This record gives sequence, structure tokens and C-alpha cells, in this order.
Amino acid sequence: MSSNARGYGYRWQKARERFLRAHPLCCYCERNGFVTAASIVDHKIPHRGNQELFWDEGNWQALCKACHDGAKAQEEARDGLR
Ligand SMILES: [Zn+2]
Repeated sequence: MSSNARGYGYRWQKARERFLRAHPLCCYCERNGFVTAASIVDHKIPHRGNQELFWDEGNWQALCKACHDGAKAQEEARDGLR
């Protein structure tokens, strides 16, 4: 029960793969008119260990690494989220 308590276990790996198959493009790039393959499933609202937020697919978005490390981090910084 403890090693997967943060949610990043086998179940997440599977869910993530499935989500990326359904949403193969980065949604930030798409918004800006670019077509980039997504490789990361990001939580729109940081889950901070909240299991309900973590597993809520409505709170997921497909991002490429550049957007995840760039735009998303900036957004979180701007919102005062750490
Ligand atoms: Zn992107």
C-alpha cells in the first residue's frame, strides 16, 4: 500500500499510455497552431497528492516536454504554485 501511495505506479503508467494514445498531440502547442507529439500527461490542477485530482481525467492534459518544462512551469510560477 505504501510504495504507490503517491500514485505514480503501474496503474498510472497504464493510464498515461492510454491517455496519450487518445490525445497524441500537445494541447499547448495545438493552441498556438503547432503540431507536436505529446509525451507527458500533466495535471492541470496540481494534485499535490490528492488522489481524486490525480485520477480525474478531466484534470489531465497531454503536453510535450518543452511545454511541460516551459509554459506550464511559468504558469504555475505566475499563479504562485510551487
Ligand atoms: Zn507543446
